[in-house]
Amino acid sequence: MKQIIATPSRTKELLDTYQLRAKKNYGQNFLIEPGVVDKIARHALISDHCAVVEIGPGIGALTQYLCEYAQRVIAYEIDARLPAVLADSLSAYDNFELRMQDFLSVDIQELVNDLRQEGYDVVFAANLPYYITTPILFHLFEANCEIGAITVMMQKEVADRFHARCNTKEYNALSVMTQYRCDITPIMKIPRNVFMPRPQVDSAVLQFRFKPKQENIDEARLFALIKACFKQRRKTILNNYGAYVGNKDQAKELLEKAAIDPSVRSESLNLNDFFRLYEVMQQ
Ligand code: SAM
Repeated sequence: MKQIIATPSRTKELLDTYQLRAKKNYGQNFLIEPGVVDKIARHALISDHCAVVEIGPGIGALTQYLCEYAQRVIAYEIDARLPAVLADSLSAYDNFELRMQDFLSVDIQELVNDLRQEGYDVVFAANLPYYITTPILFHLFEANCEIGAITVMMQKEVADRFHARCNTKEYNALSVMTQYRCDITPIMKIPRNVFMPRPQVDSAVLQFRFKPKQENIDEARLFALIKACFKQRRKTILNNYGAYVGNKDQAKELLEKAAIDPSVRSESLNLNDFFRLYEVMQQ
């Protein structure tokens, strides 16, 4: 690699040359530690025939390592100031393609299917803009297509909620719904001092891999049930679920049929408990 972008001196040099200041409203915090970008890029690839889609390349810190390791890299960026910088910082790579588009408006299914037809395993990687972490992940989760893996950095507190276990304070409806869809692997924790500018919070990298779809489950109905059960965190499952069913006696009966103690709170229920409750409602 000729010149590493993810260092304090090169980042400063690029920002000065192009007279750029990081834009807060685009969630711009650039990585300045090569060991970190190297590790994310290595984990992101699941085969030697990968196309990587990156969300928000910034000035190219992570992109450079993805270009080193993957056959093809497609990056979506929203900041109109950055194409000029990337044309310079990534000039050594002919496997890089920049698309100037808000990632939330990308048709993921079409993108993935096109790349699959070309014979690639398709993976996603990013140091996510924190202000839209959850919308971006749900945009990917709901695409219903063959994504090999999603390896992304986010605020540590948000990562903690995604892979929280039951009976912890981080566990909520988001944890259950995400764990229904994906196996989640924590890759690394990242301190705030490896970014320019330095954010107020620490970060973590998670990898999401889709579980096989359960054809017998109507996802929308399961998720409505999960959200209703977590509606008022301090209340018992009987209170929350009773409000959802609209009849407390019937709710108690269904909970008992699903072998769930009506006096517990939702945070003590695991995914299998929610499956059982979903099933008794279908009978
Ligand atoms: N990947 C670079 C790095 O690690 O140094 C930059 C990461 S920075 C946290 C987030 C990047 O996402 C910025 O470049 C920002 O302009 C871009 N971004 C923000 N919102 C976006 C959106 N809706 N679609 C695509 N890119 C976006």
